[in-house]
Amino acid sequence: MATPPKASTSQEIWFLTGSQGLYGDDVLHQVAHQSRQIAERLDAAERVPLRVVWKPVLTDTDAIRRLCQEATVSDDCVGVIVWMHTFSPAKMWIAGLSSLDRPVLHLHTQYNLSLPWSSIDMDFMNLNQAAHGDREFAHIEARLGVDRKIVAGHATDPRVVGRVADWARAAAGRQASRTLRLARFGDNMRDVAVTEGDKVEAQLRFGFSVNTYAVNDLVAVVDEVDDKAAAELADEYVESYDVVPALRPGGIRHDALLYAARQELGLRAFLTDGGFTAFTTNFEDLGGLRQLPGLAVQRLMADGYGFGGEGDWKTSALLRVMKVMGLGQPGGTTFMEDYTYHLGPGTPRILGAHMLEVCPSVAAARPRCEIHPLSIGGREDPVRLVFDASPGPALVVGLADLGDRFRLTANAVDVVAPSQPLPRLPVARAVWEPRPSLAESAESWLLSGAPHHTVLSSAVGRETLADFAAMTGVELLIIDENTTTEQFAKEIRWNAAYHRLAQAL
Ligand code: MN
Repeated sequence: MATPPKASTSQEIWFLTGSQGLYGDDVLHQVAHQSRQIAERLDAAERVPLRVVWKPVLTDTDAIRRLCQEATVSDDCVGVIVWMHTFSPAKMWIAGLSSLDRPVLHLHTQYNLSLPWSSIDMDFMNLNQAAHGDREFAHIEARLGVDRKIVAGHATDPRVVGRVADWARAAAGRQASRTLRLARFGDNMRDVAVTEGDKVEAQLRFGFSVNTYAVNDLVAVVDEVDDKAAAELADEYVESYDVVPALRPGGIRHDALLYAARQELGLRAFLTDGGFTAFTTNFEDLGGLRQLPGLAVQRLMADGYGFGGEGDWKTSALLRVMKVMGLGQPGGTTFMEDYTYHLGPGTPRILGAHMLEVCPSVAAARPRCEIHPLSIGGREDPVRLVFDASPGPALVVGLADLGDRFRLTANAVDVVAPSQPLPRLPVARAVWEPRPSLAESAESWLLSGAPHHTVLSSAVGRETLADFAAMTGVELLIIDENTTTEQFAKEIRWNAAYHRLAQAL
């Protein structure tokens, strides 16, 4: 079995502390000792998904420049946290920050929580002066236009740790995006607009590469799969899911399950050999594939691969990035499509699904493994997992190419149990109530020109998504409980002005 593409455990956040030579060795010793404790506290925090590595205190221009350059070429460092424990004259940081190509989190903190009112003296004041040291540093960040997240508060505050953790997840997502290789089997579905896009611009902006392979290249790998390996994997299906009797060994359609297993093993081999962490299929272009891959795609998504139906490479890449950002979090992340509405009575709801490909990481219970005809594509009946998505808050996120820029649109939603059982619906599905309401959500979504293919995630939070958008310089529109269609329309116009000006400058 191929190794799932998880975020590398070697990934690190570097913790940089600024000071200067003015204070003498004793003070610099204390600065080192105390900043190291803060870095270690963040490193030990369970919520922070990456290692936080303390670096020796920086006191001069050359050391700062060297460390920023080191961070930029390091394969392990995916972001830097910066803190001015004392005062670090910020002209010393110009060369370093100018050469830094890593996300920056400016942690505005101090070692002590409370002021020692009765004993405070000038030694204490000189040691603990982040209150103005960080303002000096922030000035040069602002002047240089450094994209950064600022988090203020004590390192013991759960809010501070949570915001650092959210940012670290986004930094891991940015790194995943920059190293992502996506295989498309065939092109986009014919005549569809929103799944098109500029793949060169995507690589410039996000770093991921998108290349097409003939579907029969995949067919050759699927056909080479060993019969015994396919039979073993089919046995694993029978253990993992409620497989309908017809598909079980001895059942009249067991051959279809064996072929689904063969597809999974072939796809895994193809993706592993090529170093791909995301892929697309298109039901219009199946070459010698006997079924549209359903179960195989569902299981690959569950292992962290990105996927988009109908050649949708943007959603596939976004899914992979969000899989990495949500790694280890409760909840799941899946490819999704707004399908049909319940407009009443009661609270209006969206029924989301796809032809087959919904990731079981969002399943509320053990999935059923079934076989049904597919009304499009003209192939043999595909095997698929069928389940309802687990209730709870989630984000629905879409990535569109507007021609002059990419736009992320996100809707905060509440996944709910279906109002009634859906015994005749042969696909996995999610039912959700979009915030602030279906009408305002849909009006806003349509105004933004956001796609019908999305990523639904209960594992990635809003702040992580916003941090990722900021790190990649991509527009993000959020539709949530505070949105009104009127205000949203204004935001779109303001954003258009900003992004067009920002491009021209
Ligand atoms: Mn679709």
